[in-house]
Amino acid sequence: MYCLIDINNFFVSCERLFRPDLARTPVLVLSSNDGCVIARSSEVKLLDIPMGTPFFKIKELVRTHKIACFSSNFSLYADLSRRFQQCIGSEFPMEIYSIDEVFLKLPTSMPRIEDFAHSLRQRLLQEVGMPTSLGFGPTKTLAKLALLCTKQNLTLRNVCGLTCPDETRKILQKTPASKVWGIGKALSSKLSTLGITSAYDLAITSPGWIRHHFSITLERTARELMGEESIPLEETPEPRKSLQVSRSFGKPVRDLRTLHSAFSTFCENASSKLRRADLFAQGCCLSTTYTLGPSSRIPFTQTLKFTTPLQDPRLIMDKISQHLTTLFLHLEKRSLTPLSPPSFYKGSLIFFPLSPPSAQPSLFDQKISVDCSKIGLFQAIDKTHQKFGSQCLRLASSLGTSWKPKSTLQSPGYTTSWKDLPTVHAIP
Ligand SMILES: [Mg+2]
Repeated sequence: MYCLIDINNFFVSCERLFRPDLARTPVLVLSSNDGCVIARSSEVKLLDIPMGTPFFKIKELVRTHKIACFSSNFSLYADLSRRFQQCIGSEFPMEIYSIDEVFLKLPTSMPRIEDFAHSLRQRLLQEVGMPTSLGFGPTKTLAKLALLCTKQNLTLRNVCGLTCPDETRKILQKTPASKVWGIGKALSSKLSTLGITSAYDLAITSPGWIRHHFSITLERTARELMGEESIPLEETPEPRKSLQVSRSFGKPVRDLRTLHSAFSTFCENASSKLRRADLFAQGCCLSTTYTLGPSSRIPFTQTLKFTTPLQDPRLIMDKISQHLTTLFLHLEKRSLTPLSPPSFYKGSLIFFPLSPPSAQPSLFDQKISVDCSKIGLFQAIDKTHQKFGSQCLRLASSLGTSWKPKSTLQSPGYTTSWKDLPTVHAIP
């Protein structure tokens, strides 16, 4: 039996945890640079504000309905996600499916699964402060569908199991195929032209026919809807194949030094993630968007291949800064007047492929050489960051914050920054 545990309105629940005064107030969370809505409390959903709505379009609604708005605070969300996973424990095999969702594989013989689900929910609320919903069923796809039922039917009290075949059939008949896990818009419209409109239609279609006309993935989904385990639990996540660091700039960047500062910060962040995963990057894709005079935004992308796989932010930045400088000087020459230099709006680095130090290089590539003196240096840097925060030791080229995305509405780092620890007042 599979059980899926999901935190309700995760980012909003994180913000409310330290602001109990907002328990019944509409709350929303904005994307990087305070651009669009990326999380909504149930009150905001009732106001018909869709996900992805640009913030400037709803400023009037925010004022009228006194909606509490937050810039995203990913260090807080990541820390609470870690606590949520830890609290679930390791009693049963577990798959971390996303930042706020975990699958558990429970023994088929386990009695009273519903009681287990309610007590786990209670524990997560008490120990981590996160409200959750739980769905369970004989396959992962049915557990996901059971979870959807808890969101649509509030009388279920956040727990639903699809264990009775008759009950499951009725639910499948009522569920549109587009709501089934893994079926997107394009696929569901293609299915509907063939007369497969409900989850039940898909479940009773011949698996061989589905594999022939679609894919083995959809065949597995159909088998799972019939209660046949076809998508196994992934206890060990697949090793990372790429790593992206990107930001929209808070205001247009018009000088080379600030552009370097932004990309150097990206290199530092990426390097720290590579060290944690013990991976090296063999190359990267550098992208940015810019304008020249009154032109509309122009995208720029360049792929770089490193001669030796890299992890050291100084060496990575060395490669990148050459290309940034060439691009900037080239655009500066093309700009209409010296008074209107090129303006940059966002930057991104995608590192790929990634490989562990033990990876066998191809015939023409160099083997990763791990310099022990640098290992000591970066261990010391990581320890210092842990103790005094990630801003205490930086590359000189990263200094400068004028490019940083806007996050004027960000909540404090309640659980990740000593200076932001909440104060508790005790009345004697
Ligand atoms: Mg959720």
